[in-house]
Amino acid sequence: MAGPDNAPAPALPDTSPAALRRLVACEYCDAVYERTPISPGERALCLRCGGELYRESRRHYRRLLPLVITALILFLVSNAYPIVEMDLKGVRTQTTLLGAVQALYDDQMALVAALVFATTILFPLSELLMMMYLLVPMAQHRMPVGFDRIVRGIRRTRPWGMIEVFMIGVLVTLVKLSTMARVLPGIALWSFAALVIVLAAMLSFDPRDLWRYLETPDDDAGAPGGPGEGGR
Ligand SMILES: [Zn+2]
Repeated sequence: MAGPDNAPAPALPDTSPAALRRLVACEYCDAVYERTPISPGERALCLRCGGELYRESRRHYRRLLPLVITALILFLVSNAYPIVEMDLKGVRTQTTLLGAVQALYDDQMALVAALVFATTILFPLSELLMMMYLLVPMAQHRMPVGFDRIVRGIRRTRPWGMIEVFMIGVLVTLVKLSTMARVLPGIALWSFAALVIVLAAMLSFDPRDLWRYLETPDDDAGAPGGPGEGGR
């Protein structure tokens, strides 16, 4: 952190840890602001470039753990039930998404198989598990071990865990398999559709905001005796 230039400033800015944590930098032009409370649904914009600084996400944060748990259940259901029916050497078999990946791999489409596996299984599952790892202790007002590393990990894998990528992965599987497979309109397919919606709601939360809720776990300073008792 760079100190002030040689000349001592007449009024040094407050550099206590609490004051520093209130600072927020514009992601687009690096202007620094002091965070002020805003109402739910409002967004704070950068005065210089108009970029979004932050939004009031407390209500969203309270919904986050239930969303992640729902997504995990849907993920398990989606992958536990068969999603396609294939003719393999004259035998008709129904298989799960993972089975479909295996079939792609066996059909000389290793690259497609790897892509589908990463976008539909690996990335969503790792994001969900990382979120669980952070949110469960946070709901009990505990600091998760390695918090900053996990938040950075989520931010880094986000571009690959995006809903568009996920849907492309599912589409590629279905199109590539269409010559040898038929999509089953069953539990797995509907569960996948629901998963897409839950993931979209979950992914609209900026993981950087978790920092804030780690420090002020329940109600904000500006909301004494709020009606909602968070932490569930
Ligand atoms: Zn800006």
